[in-house]
Amino acid sequence: MNRNHYNFDLNGLLKKVFFVDLIQGLFITFHYTFSKTITMKYPDEETWIPYKRFRGLHTLNKNKEGKELCVGCELCQKSCPTQCITVVPMQDTTGKGIADRVAYRWEINLLRCMFCGLCEDACPTEALKLGREYELAGTSMQRHLLTKEELLAPQAVPAEFEGGVIVKARLGTDETGIKVVPDMSVQKRWW
Ligand code: SF4
Ligand code: SF4
Repeated sequence: MNRNHYNFDLNGLLKKVFFVDLIQGLFITFHYTFSKTITMKYPDEETWIPYKRFRGLHTLNKNKEGKELCVGCELCQKSCPTQCITVVPMQDTTGKGIADRVAYRWEINLLRCMFCGLCEDACPTEALKLGREYELAGTSMQRHLLTKEELLAPQAVPAEFEGGVIVKARLGTDETGIKVVPDMSVQKRWW
């Protein structure tokens, strides 16, 4: 008869006899029963505001005087690995060259975007930033094709806000459907 037949796992046997695994499991359950809850009441009461470095929906920005920073140079379009940006520059009729130029058309197909941030890195005027809007689900193709006008509208979370917090939220509606509206006056962290 094979010698290995007589080798048995004494440790395993003792663990079974004294219900070690069961006791360990119960200990973990009790530990979580008395620890602070990290469940977020999203989206009805609370929402998560990501850190500044988060790469969400794109924003096109203006300077302090309200002039569009995008000069329609097309560098974002050329640097995009999924070719989801379309830029058509305005024809220069002012004679002032690129300094006075803006994009005639700036569009993005979010269904193809992987939020890598290469377009933001390529932008020479800091017109293009990836913002913190992440509720981008939709039921139609059209919902994911965004134009310059839509991206020029300020996002709910200001760029200077540090983030990394849970804030109070309420549900609101706009032309795209139901949205979570953050109220940043009440903030908490979950750690
Ligand atoms: S984040 Fe990446 S994939 Fe999306 S538009 Fe910019 S470069 Fe393209
Ligand atoms: S967003 Fe920036 S990179 Fe893209 S066209 Fe405008 S200025 Fe050029």
